[in-house]
Amino acid sequence: MTSSSPLGDRVWCLLCNDHVRFVSIHHATQFADVSRRSIYRYIEAGKIQFFKLARTGQYRVCSGCLLSQGKPADD
Ligand SMILES: [Zn+2]
Repeated sequence: MTSSSPLGDRVWCLLCNDHVRFVSIHHATQFADVSRRSIYRYIEAGKIQFFKLARTGQYRVCSGCLLSQGKPADD
């Protein structure tokens, strides 16, 4: 489990119940067409699965969860 890089690999997502690609926050904003704020809100609300890279402290979020959120009403 520790040998594979999360970059570009599919990771098991408890919420999707499937192996899904996890992407950076920056990538997520582009592909889900939402703001960074929305993504952090999803994370805080537990709506999307995520993990933090040990080396850089960057987040990786589940692309499957993101797509299932739909378009948020951004304030
Ligand atoms: Zn997911």
